[in-house]
Amino acid sequence: MTVSPPHIETLKSFTDNKGWISTPEDMQVFVTEQRDKYRGTSPLILLPKTAKEVSNILKFCNENQIEIVPQGGNTGLVGGGIPTGDNSQIILNLKRMNKIVSHDRSNSTITVGAGMILANLQQIAEKNEQLFPVSLAAEGSCQIGGNIATNAGGVNVLRYGSMRDQVLGLQMVLANGDIIDDLGGLRKDNTGYNLKALFMGSEGTLGIITAATLKLYPAHRQKETAFVAVETPQKAVELFSLAQKMSGDTLIAFEIMPRIGLEFVIDHMGGRDPMGDKYDWYILIECASSLDETVLDLPRLMGLMVTEGFEKDLIIDGVLPKNQKETDEIWKLRENLSEAQKFEGGSIKHDISVPISKIPEFLEKATAATCAETSGLRPVPFGHIGDGNLHFNLSQPIGADKAEFLNQWERLNKITHDITAELGGSISAEHGIGRMKIEELERYKSPLQINLMRHIKKALDPNAIMNPNIIFRIK
Ligand SMILES: Cc1cc2nc3c(=O)[nH]c(=O)nc-3n(C[C@H](O)[C@H](O)[C@H](O)COP(=O)(O)OP(=O)(O)OC[C@H]3O[C@@H](n4cnc5c(N)ncnc54)[C@H](O)[C@@H]3O)c2cc1C
Repeated sequence: MTVSPPHIETLKSFTDNKGWISTPEDMQVFVTEQRDKYRGTSPLILLPKTAKEVSNILKFCNENQIEIVPQGGNTGLVGGGIPTGDNSQIILNLKRMNKIVSHDRSNSTITVGAGMILANLQQIAEKNEQLFPVSLAAEGSCQIGGNIATNAGGVNVLRYGSMRDQVLGLQMVLANGDIIDDLGGLRKDNTGYNLKALFMGSEGTLGIITAATLKLYPAHRQKETAFVAVETPQKAVELFSLAQKMSGDTLIAFEIMPRIGLEFVIDHMGGRDPMGDKYDWYILIECASSLDETVLDLPRLMGLMVTEGFEKDLIIDGVLPKNQKETDEIWKLRENLSEAQKFEGGSIKHDISVPISKIPEFLEKATAATCAETSGLRPVPFGHIGDGNLHFNLSQPIGADKAEFLNQWERLNKITHDITAELGGSISAEHGIGRMKIEELERYKSPLQINLMRHIKKALDPNAIMNPNIIFRIK
């Protein structure tokens, strides 16, 4: 359906004069994906301030069959927040709904607008000696609503779970404008289907999340980090088991990175190699506790764990940062890994998960198969090994033509995803499906499950105005 000038004028009238953008220049950051893999066009971007405004917009769009792309911080990596290129979809961005609604300290919950930036929520919690544990490299821009709609993961999933695990309540606006207010903050509620759970990971296809009630935890009073070298992914998995056994629940992050990734970061984004010698694989381990040092000696615990790792021949070298500056430097090496690959030309991405025990087999098979397909290929697998989640990214051969290399995206995806499926894994561990992996989902998910998702969408959004053709084809 074309969005006509009268439609646009009516849509603008549902919010104030700061609540819309309609000039192509000002729209650029909203219609372009971070990695520039997707670009769209839109006749109008709406920035509502209240759930009532969102409701009025959706009701009008539903009656006039105008398609809507919900958008948060636009840091998604699968094109789900970017409109198509035919100027037929409006964007509804939540950035102005960014306030605290309520903060219940005794219940350890906070209710915030969906447009609150993740890092801001972390800071609010910190100021109150509480913790909001979801943490990812895009936290300075991504929004709570986007985090919920993608069920974001990040570095602390192994201790606290993903975004889904933090949500106790949601306010949702359905396609017809109805508002479901379920912000109670209850930890127990068995009153039929958990409808809000449908919105977690829905990627904007069912309605708009306008507010959320989230769990808070006691703040960390101590944190210890180690950066160690291991010989093989198998040793990394064994070290993970050891760390889990010895950490007494304090283990919050266990991240793997290969030598080539470390070199990309140091060469292109700065930083220094924390160890004198070069090794094939590195692990970043972090433990944290809300207990203070008079009750729990966390440096000693980390020291014992690393010593045991050396003695069991799992760790071959390592450093324990002496202060926050050194800790931050080590985290920067991990956080800049994705960005650093840009400087090495084309990079074909995968975001897979397999059972942790299958990580070594996955790496061996996927590396051999993709390198056999493309000579000179440079795999840069890194990520949340403690969750069985790897970003199996493939950098182009040195000197190759970038566009020609990127033409192999689908072929290399298929090889990698076939191996993932054979090992009982998922083709999208944390980034979602968006418009990028629709065909892949059709290949690996059962038709029964995809059809059930279609039926759910039809029940909630019969005119298919909410982000149609994201996750699965609607027609
Ligand atoms: C450098 C970098 C590192 C990253 N690291 C991680 C990581 O470690 N773990 C991880 O999981 N992801 C990671 N991501 C991906 C991304 O940050 C997450 O998917 C994030 O949750 C997206 O939030 P957003 O606000 O930017 O959403 P957007 O990109 O704006 O939107 C994402 C999807 O959610 C929908 N949506 C957004 N807001 C709403 C709403 N209020 N209601 C309904 N639907 C909505 C959109 O339609 C779209 O389909 C990373 C991205 C970058 C750029």
